[in-house]
Amino acid sequence: MCGIVGIIQQTESKIGNEIIEALTKLEYRGYDSVGVASVANGELIIVKDEGKIAEVLEKIDLDSIKGRVAIGHTRWATHGPPSKENAHPHVDCKKQISVIHNGIIENFQQLKNELLEQGHVFQSETDTEVLPHLIEQFLEEEKVSLEEAIIKTVERIEGTYGICVISTLEPDKIFCAKKDSPLVIGINDNRMFCASDIPAFLSYTQEVVLLHDDEFVTISKDNYEIIDLKTGETITRKPYTVSWKPEMAQKAGFPHFMLKEIHEQPNTLADYIRIEQPSILKIAEKIYEAEKVFLLAAGTAHYSTLTGQNLIRRFVKKPCSSVIASEYELIKNLIDEKTVIVPVSQSGETMDTIMAIKNARELGATILSAVNIVGSTVTRHSDEVLYLYAGPEIGVAATKTYTAQTLAMWDIGLELGKISGELDNDEYEMYRTNFKNIPSIVKQTIVHNEARANHIASWFAKKNSSFYLARSLNLQTAREGALKMKEIAYIHSEAYPAGESKHGPIALVEEDYPVVFVTPQDQTRKLIVGNIMEMKARGATAIAVLEEGDKEMEELVKWKFEIPKGYSEMFSTIPYVVPLQLLAYYTAVRRGYSPDQPRNLSKSVTVL
Ligand code: GLU
Repeated sequence: MCGIVGIIQQTESKIGNEIIEALTKLEYRGYDSVGVASVANGELIIVKDEGKIAEVLEKIDLDSIKGRVAIGHTRWATHGPPSKENAHPHVDCKKQISVIHNGIIENFQQLKNELLEQGHVFQSETDTEVLPHLIEQFLEEEKVSLEEAIIKTVERIEGTYGICVISTLEPDKIFCAKKDSPLVIGINDNRMFCASDIPAFLSYTQEVVLLHDDEFVTISKDNYEIIDLKTGETITRKPYTVSWKPEMAQKAGFPHFMLKEIHEQPNTLADYIRIEQPSILKIAEKIYEAEKVFLLAAGTAHYSTLTGQNLIRRFVKKPCSSVIASEYELIKNLIDEKTVIVPVSQSGETMDTIMAIKNARELGATILSAVNIVGSTVTRHSDEVLYLYAGPEIGVAATKTYTAQTLAMWDIGLELGKISGELDNDEYEMYRTNFKNIPSIVKQTIVHNEARANHIASWFAKKNSSFYLARSLNLQTAREGALKMKEIAYIHSEAYPAGESKHGPIALVEEDYPVVFVTPQDQTRKLIVGNIMEMKARGATAIAVLEEGDKEMEELVKWKFEIPKGYSEMFSTIPYVVPLQLLAYYTAVRRGYSPDQPRNLSKSVTVL
């Protein structure tokens, strides 16, 4: 969580616009407060305030921020409420050292007590503020260089961090260190960058160097030096060119990133299908050979792993469970060298997932991941990786990465069906053809349902509670739809197995209560009719995501979303979720909320 960015330019000149432009691309990571520090005329300039970037920009003069180096931060508060004082950057007592930080310093209280005893004066309640004071303390006490003082500081802290430091003592450098929080370097002829994520500098460069845990890097105007803090050795790591294009981090005429990303799905799914990945066969074989399989994820990704779980049970007939990463403890005793863990993550930086797979690896498990971000921490702890190729996702509410994750689960499932013999050659080929049709079905789904979603949203926006019901495979579609509605439109939304809804939830139903049903033409279709009738008999207003031409269902419900014919029922979880993404989006907009930056949330959850 939180976005951090640093820029070094060739001369000491205006730098505020560049830093804010980069921070804007990272605002999905946190938006409690914003701050920038630079060094100009031998002094630190610090500008910071509570609020989102647009709000803070109204109060500050960007042109006043000059320097050769600058760092910027957009916060997702963990220690101390959002406020001007707690906003990063933080400084030492002499105002010579400025630090931004992503993560949590676990031993900050002990360090703060020591520093207070030594006379340091603190301005904030954050854990982060111990960092500049500790650097200052090492400089004074041990008369070491700035670089050594920062390294000593990093060695004293426990917890997770991506940190960037600038100082009047060496006004042409940025020093960074990383452990369990993401940090990347961007290189261009005129500027050097460091940031939590690539979109920050994508409009300047596609040349990227990924930093690993326990590394320290000194960035100057045309160089970077990486040191492995465990061995003290210098590491040579060449940049690589990312395939992402600068426009991928722009809204391209859409009012919000979320809407743009919903519309991108036909292309992202087609990219996934087009790019061959040799790891798919190895992943399927290892799952087939394993004794136990656990899929591991958090948030939306968890729902995609439910598809994976169902497919593995179906095609390999093997016990397999999808586990929420933060509940890994519950399965820890089951992990051994015959276990396969399949972590699924957009960012590859979700802390709960990282902690779980590190432990599972120590216990001998094989890690086979599905991840969007190339080179991210999860991929570095994996034996095999399936990449999602969904491009940067900037809207906080996941959309295109959920459908890509679900597609990846199907990809694995089909290979498993082939290996296990559950699918014969003809069936396999037929499903592969259907698989390739998914992007076009999703495209038609968007075209058929966007205006409807906007229309239904005008009614939904006035509600404060709803149910999403489905059976079997599409239960996760209902769960994902309900999650989208609660996270961006702030309407309490609960997904339930439709057959289970009479065991409790139905007690809440009253006149005009919204109940969304997911009703594909599969074996669940007949049974769900009864569940619709039960809800309507209590006054509920039923909405269905149904297959085009399903007249009987159309007559049962007040509003419908239609999925075009031609999809294989096996793959229904992908097109059926799309109208629910659109419904949540338009409901949020009608309620006056920003779907890209829902309150209290952050996209990449890098704290436990
Ligand atoms: N723990 C720090 C704070 O509360 C950093 C949080 C973040 O990653 O944004 O300020």
